[in-house]
Amino acid sequence: MRSIEKPRAVVIGGSLGGLLTASTMRAAGWDVDVFETSPNQLESRGGGVVLQPDVLDALDYAGVTLPNPPGVASGDRIYLDRNDRVVEQLYMPQMQTSWSLLHRAMKNALPAQHLHTGETFADFHMDGERIVAQFESGRSEKADLLIGADGIRSTLRRRLLPEILPVYAGYVAWRGLVDEPDLPRVAADMLRDRFAFQHGDGYSGLCYLIPGDNDSTVFGQRRWNWVWYRQYSAERLDELLVDRNGVKRAFSLPPGTAKRADIAHLREDAPKWLGPTFRALVEATDDPFMQPIVDLRAPKMVFGRAVLLGDAASVPRPHTAGSTAKAAANAHALAQALASTWQSGATIDSALKRWENQQLQRGKLMTDLGISLGDRVMNLAR
Ligand SMILES: Cc1cc2nc3c(=O)[nH]c(=O)nc-3n(C[C@H](O)[C@H](O)[C@H](O)COP(=O)(O)OP(=O)(O)OC[C@H]3O[C@@H](n4cnc5c(N)ncnc54)[C@H](O)[C@@H]3O)c2cc1C
Repeated sequence: MRSIEKPRAVVIGGSLGGLLTASTMRAAGWDVDVFETSPNQLESRGGGVVLQPDVLDALDYAGVTLPNPPGVASGDRIYLDRNDRVVEQLYMPQMQTSWSLLHRAMKNALPAQHLHTGETFADFHMDGERIVAQFESGRSEKADLLIGADGIRSTLRRRLLPEILPVYAGYVAWRGLVDEPDLPRVAADMLRDRFAFQHGDGYSGLCYLIPGDNDSTVFGQRRWNWVWYRQYSAERLDELLVDRNGVKRAFSLPPGTAKRADIAHLREDAPKWLGPTFRALVEATDDPFMQPIVDLRAPKMVFGRAVLLGDAASVPRPHTAGSTAKAAANAHALAQALASTWQSGATIDSALKRWENQQLQRGKLMTDLGISLGDRVMNLAR
């Protein structure tokens, strides 16, 4: 490494994993540039995220401040049956925030010249000890470290581990956001201040409040965030992934893309499965969106000077409420490992090796937990 300059990292992906990496690595003394394929600001698609301590620790290390409060608190967990009877209730306080709030806070903390949107990473090659990232635009960027935070369908992972592919778990998450005043009063009174579930035979629903579009946590300005896990065959999933313009989506249906007929079916099906409260949520949602549940676990995260983290490395099922927390822990630990390298003069390679061992273990625990929770809740025998 050149002794007079700061070390430099190029991060692929400007979602939560990429921005967590950029902010923590900058705090560790690195120069960091983030390259995001999407040309726009990515902020409009975010739903709810359970705010876990790993995320707060990483943001604290990075000096990124969140609004106060950073989300909406819930006290009790309640489990409803098909007739809306509360069949179980336990006190489990936690905080729910939104993807957009976290993304906005980190983006505002990153000097704009270090976030390059509309740049699609294509490949890399080595140039001596340094790594060169190549983009579809023809641009190339030289760095000491190339970090793939480019999600489930990571281009960097496909380049390094082409045999590791996401595997459909047999069910999807239909999701929706409803402005707080738009939910009928009876349903709102059941859900407010709570984290609510309805589990049934082969399906599951959950709902909690998150900040509003403008990050507001004021009563009346928040949003209901719901999820309905449903089983579909792989063939039916392929049909669902054709969007309302006839385009086959590779991975998920963001808001505004599901076919009108599929949304109508979802609404028709709601009374057959869901109790009055969850039914009211589905009915009040203009544009439900959908994400298939997949399993993915890379056996390695470090490949010389190329690194995979966040969803690019492993994807815990959402029942863990842990993929953002895992991305945060990956990023925070990487920054700490490389900060001590920078100060002590130890080699980057041995720091990366230690980091990889710990983070592979974390990924395994989280993905195993997600599979066991998901299969149990969806009645899937393996
Ligand atoms: C727009 C958006 C909204 C989301 N909303 C929620 C939510 O509401 N709740 C929730 O729990 N999780 C949400 N997620 C997922 C959540 O961010 C992740 O599961 C978790 O935080 C780990 O994030 P990640 O950054 O590793 O992966 P991801 O969030 O999947 O991010 C990967 C990023 O890499 C970019 N990318 C992919 N390929 C390339 C390439 N070749 N070159 C450059 N860039 C590339 C993608 O555009 C994307 O921005 C959302 C993800 C996205 C992209």
